[in-house]
Amino acid sequence: MPTGIVEEFLELKAETDADVLAMQCGDFYEFFADDAELVADELDLTVSQKSSHGSSYPMAGVPLTELTPYLRALVERGYRVAVADQYETDDGGHAREIVRVVTPGTLLETSDDDARYLATVVAGGDDDGRAGGEAASGEAASGEAVSSEGAHPVGVAFADVTTGRFLVTELDGWADLRAELYRFDPAEVVPGPTLRNDDAFLEAVREDLTGTLSVFDAEAFASGRAAHAVRDQFGASIADSVGLDSAPATRAAGAALAYVDETGAGVLASMTRLTRYAAADHVELDATTQRNLELTETMRGETTGSLLEAIDHTVTAAGGRLLREWLTRPKRDREALERRLDAVDALAGATLERDRITTLLEDAYDLERLAARTTSGSAGARALVSIRDTLGLLPELVDAVEETSLSSTPVADVLAQPDRDGARALREDLEDALADDPPKTKTEGGLLCRGYDPELDELIERHEAAREWIDTLAEREKRAHGLSHVTVDRNKTDGYYIQVGKSVADEVPAHYREIKTLKNSKRFVTDELVEHEREVLRVEEARAELEYELFEALRERVAESAALVQDVGRALATLDALTSLATHAASEDWTRPTLTDTRELAITAGRHPVVEQTTDFVPNDLRLDADRGFLIVTGPNMSGKSTYMRQAALIQLLAQAGSFVPAREAHVGLVDGIYTRVGALDELAQGRSTFMVEMQELSNILHSATADSLVILDEVGRGTATYDGIAIAWAATEYLHNEVRARTLFATHYHELTTLSDHLSRVANVHVAVDERDGDVTFLRTVRDGPTNRSYGVHVADLAGVPAPVVDRADRVLDRLREEKAIEARGGTADGETTQAVFDLSTGAFDAGGDGSGAGDGDATNGTTEEARTGDDADDGDDSPADGDGSPADGDDSPTGSDVVGPAARAVLEELTDLDLAETPPVELVSLVDAWQDRVTETAEPPQER
Ligand code: ADP
Repeated sequence: MPTGIVEEFLELKAETDADVLAMQCGDFYEFFADDAELVADELDLTVSQKSSHGSSYPMAGVPLTELTPYLRALVERGYRVAVADQYETDDGGHAREIVRVVTPGTLLETSDDDARYLATVVAGGDDDGRAGGEAASGEAASGEAVSSEGAHPVGVAFADVTTGRFLVTELDGWADLRAELYRFDPAEVVPGPTLRNDDAFLEAVREDLTGTLSVFDAEAFASGRAAHAVRDQFGASIADSVGLDSAPATRAAGAALAYVDETGAGVLASMTRLTRYAAADHVELDATTQRNLELTETMRGETTGSLLEAIDHTVTAAGGRLLREWLTRPKRDREALERRLDAVDALAGATLERDRITTLLEDAYDLERLAARTTSGSAGARALVSIRDTLGLLPELVDAVEETSLSSTPVADVLAQPDRDGARALREDLEDALADDPPKTKTEGGLLCRGYDPELDELIERHEAAREWIDTLAEREKRAHGLSHVTVDRNKTDGYYIQVGKSVADEVPAHYREIKTLKNSKRFVTDELVEHEREVLRVEEARAELEYELFEALRERVAESAALVQDVGRALATLDALTSLATHAASEDWTRPTLTDTRELAITAGRHPVVEQTTDFVPNDLRLDADRGFLIVTGPNMSGKSTYMRQAALIQLLAQAGSFVPAREAHVGLVDGIYTRVGALDELAQGRSTFMVEMQELSNILHSATADSLVILDEVGRGTATYDGIAIAWAATEYLHNEVRARTLFATHYHELTTLSDHLSRVANVHVAVDERDGDVTFLRTVRDGPTNRSYGVHVADLAGVPAPVVDRADRVLDRLREEKAIEARGGTADGETTQAVFDLSTGAFDAGGDGSGAGDGDATNGTTEEARTGDDADDGDDSPADGDGSPADGDDSPTGSDVVGPAARAVLEELTDLDLAETPPVELVSLVDAWQDRVTETAEPPQER
């Protein structure tokens, strides 16, 4: 039974999991039914109706030659588009089959310069053997999901087919994965068998990313198959030499290669090199922090106002991509950073050379992308000309560096990276082959120049001779036969012809054969003309064929050198990015940071790199070090607290991107991560529970930050009731100070927190000064030591004109409250259990002991203060719980048996009661008892010492 065209379409559509199918029908690609509606909507095409077997279907189409831009537009909007081509069947009929699927992550011809990543993600732990089967989903349901608590290793591969970049790593778990995905912002994410059933993962990806989620054959993620794919692509030794020993990483890499191959776009060959990186090479920047610091776009999603936009002076697309990479993936390797800084330093001081380099780079084409196009076969002669000309810049750049002040700096090393001889040979090869200004299409001829190939030269000569005969024919005929109004021309249907004006058409010689009559003229041919036409066509065809062959061979040779072309591209991009940093440093008077391995961040006259561009910025100092690792920043709203803190984070980040920094002087101890939490109003608008989000972010920081991290907290606990908020902020401060020990800046409007500096040794207060006169506030933007002199709330009441007696009274009430030492500070040991004195809002008095037991008020207050002191002292040393606090001998005469059971002892008793003896191994029991003993003896020091 013959099926209609729509039925054929629908059948093909059912075969593919692509979102849209474009099916060739003669000279058009057609979309039917839902696809027609979708395409019409997205691309503004007209929908008509097509009837088939009694039904009517929407139909939309684009001409064959115009598919590419439509495809690109659809795919860039996130759709996966299958393309079915038509072919002739043996019986002379037509059939169609899907020849490729274009997906967001494998689209070669993109409309912008940004990197375009395909990400494959696979959870470690899901067993290969079962990868293809249903077991995978069962596994997710059984709690193996990556997004659930606990760290599972995750393999990730990021492939950019437009540049051939292929990065592979193994991550520690969910938070790292999320940060990494956010950083690369892939156009398409292909999750492995477990993750594709992990709702939390899928939802997070949808929330964080604009990219498309695609499902792919689970088998491709199986380790055997994946390892094979990696070896196939990069060679057995390469896979080993880059240390791809992580099973999840290999699986992700293999699946990425298989996916790229499967889409049939022919871009696999652009992956010339596999780069394995370790998460530990880079400064950890979670997704929230990348957003908060507005590295590549503002919180509103605009590029204007971002750090990248503020400092980007790159002149090439590849340089721009690289600079973005440097900012979003700051490094931890001090040597590498110093090298980058050396280069920036040298370039910043060499204005003329820098100008020359920039001018040269302005003519550079995107070699990384061009290389990918040669390997996929889509490169035309113009692309090769661009490669030729850009390779030609290399020696000129070398000239601009050698024999200048830059010659023995890392700038010269950058240019020495690629194989310069190889690049020269390739360029010469291209110079010898390509015509100066070749046409865009490959089939037109004129791609190659004379002297490249003798056979081609001969054909060109014959072609030209034949053309010459025809070109001069009109003149000859006029003269020979005394005709006026004669032209010789050619068109598709008639071929070559002699056209004679109607007025003289009767005078043509007898051997003219008429082929067509037009309104004002007649067309003729002669045997001689037909013969010459044949010769022209024959030679033309032979020439085009040979030229195309020669050109393809040439393109193939360039494709074989894709890695070299990519190398040169990388070198130019690096030079561009370095020059950009230098230009900014020189023009904005930035300074080279001194990188150290100590835990410090000391900034003299620092500025905010973005704000300083639009504001008359007041520089500020900052000092964080071993003795002063935690700053509580207070000051009224809009005084500049968050600018001050972001500035610190950005200076840290810039230094670890290898950039100069906006400051007079900066000593920057390298960090392993930068974590921020910033109260964002936008989240309310997004309908997310702000407080929940706030707590999730806080939780992530407390879990992830280390003593080598920088933590920026801009208000914590604001999203809940005041005392709730203070309690959380207070406890978080203690934890960060005592346990995490990260360098921290904490802006808060809870004035109560400023008292923490009395209790926690490394906490210091700073405030942003304001000048108040007659109710007018002038923001001084200057950060000074010490807390603000009054609570923000009372301050606002005063500003708002609340009567003076009320304000004064409020001040005094506040003082009273503070004198009561409402909240203890818990310094000290890692597991120093103390009960907290709880402030009772309704009575304004203290209820000692959170557990409600009846120790006296005074005791509790004394006790807590004392504990804070003890804690402080312990804190100055190493605070491991086993550390020196009392040998058993110390404990012997401690008053553990006194009448009053102290809070610590009570806690220990509780733990003892709760302990499940049957479940606890003896070794653990011993260490538990040891720890209890420590805690009881340590907190039972006599209070009178105070
Ligand atoms: P806060 O966090 O205290 O509410 P912000 O940091 O948001 O205050 O700063 C408020 C405004 O003051 C911003 O518009 C910022 O540009 C400006 N500002 C902050 N610090 C400075 C400074 N050092 N010099 C000049 N302007 C500043």
